[in-house]
Amino acid sequence: MNDVLPGQIGAWRHLDGVLRGLLRDYGYEELRVPVVEHTELFRRSIGEFTDIVEKEMYTFEDSGGDSLTLRPEATAGIVRAVITNGLLRGARLKVWTAGPMFRHERPQKGRFREFYQFSVEAIGFAGPDIDAELIALGARLWQRLGITRVRLLLNSLGTSAARHGYRSALRAYFEAHATVLDADSVRRLQGNPLRILDSKNPAMQALIQGAPVLSDYLDEESRAHFASLCAMLDAVQIPYTINPRLVRGLDYYSHTVFEWVTDALGAQDAICAGGRYDGLIAQLGGEATAGIGFALGQERVVDLITQAGTTPAAAAPAVYLIASGARAEAVALQLAEALREALPGQGVQMNLGGGNYKAQFRRADRSGACLALILGDAELDRGVVALKPLRREAGQIECPPAELGARVRRMLQEELWTTI
Ligand code: ATP
Ligand code: MG
Repeated sequence: MNDVLPGQIGAWRHLDGVLRGLLRDYGYEELRVPVVEHTELFRRSIGEFTDIVEKEMYTFEDSGGDSLTLRPEATAGIVRAVITNGLLRGARLKVWTAGPMFRHERPQKGRFREFYQFSVEAIGFAGPDIDAELIALGARLWQRLGITRVRLLLNSLGTSAARHGYRSALRAYFEAHATVLDADSVRRLQGNPLRILDSKNPAMQALIQGAPVLSDYLDEESRAHFASLCAMLDAVQIPYTINPRLVRGLDYYSHTVFEWVTDALGAQDAICAGGRYDGLIAQLGGEATAGIGFALGQERVVDLITQAGTTPAAAAPAVYLIASGARAEAVALQLAEALREALPGQGVQMNLGGGNYKAQFRRADRSGACLALILGDAELDRGVVALKPLRREAGQIECPPAELGARVRRMLQEELWTTI
């Protein structure tokens, strides 16, 4: 689990701001769901034969004897919220949520036990147009963030009927190679052989490469949905690679699945992934309603933003207030508060902990402030405050405290003009 330090927060906030703006542009509304849910919710939605449910959940019993789990992903909670709050009833919802997820994985670069996701979900839309919209949103996000080394992988898992036939073929294939299967795969063979395709074990990859492919088993409806999605992506010029072995690590997907991957981060190359989950809502007790969504891994995208160097610089304070001598220090706080009142959002930093003029000017310079305000015994005696631009060679001027707000505002504007 990570600490996000002040030096890293700029990239996080940049991602947050760009993504929130983009979601507004596409008409998605925020919702917030709890970090803990009943364990049963994740078992029933994510599926018994997945890495998450088999070995990654933080599950505990609360003092009332309920089995609870720290959410490993947000879709289940969102669907639960939509059902329990009566939001379905034929409604069409476009929503998002963001926050920490928890999975007890082996920690490594880009893989943590607490990590942050943005989850974007569209509920009540059955056609491929929403699939295309969600993918277009992703493509526009990379563009707005200045991230170029990304590729879109796409596949169709078809309807559950289509997957049924495929599952039998897959089971027969893996049974014929039972001696090469690892322990996870042996367990999944009967439960859900599709999960074997999702294995990250290098020793399994050759066998997986030779397995039957799902696309050969898709029915007409599934093929038509996928073909229209591809045509829409072509129309908006979003390139994609069809990867027939992309099955995704959760059981609830059907039809479209997709993953945005990068070659700039090493082994943990997936930065955003999702798919359609038309059966999930009924499976969790709601009326049958189509759904589709994706989750974006914020740590990995923050790494890409940092690499791309597109984070805007943190805003420096506009003003640094230097006060020297007991009398001046006593009125400095009042003066700083008055300025913060007059100049909201500008940043008024007060020198704290005393120090001689030289030390205070050094701190003022390091703060990045544009103007220094200087208050010492001499200024107090004359009933003025001194002002000095810090970002260019310029002398001091003085003004009475009552005029300070207006004067500082004017000077900040002038300083802006001299720097462009
Ligand atoms: P992976 O194949 O990397 O294990 P996943 O298929 O388990 O990913 P999802 O459940 O689809 O991932 O989550 C969506 C995104 O969340 C991933 O593409 C990734 O960017 C991020 N993510 C998933 N697990 C972690 C983790 N443990 N640490 C950091 N980011 C993660
Ligand atoms: Mg995983």
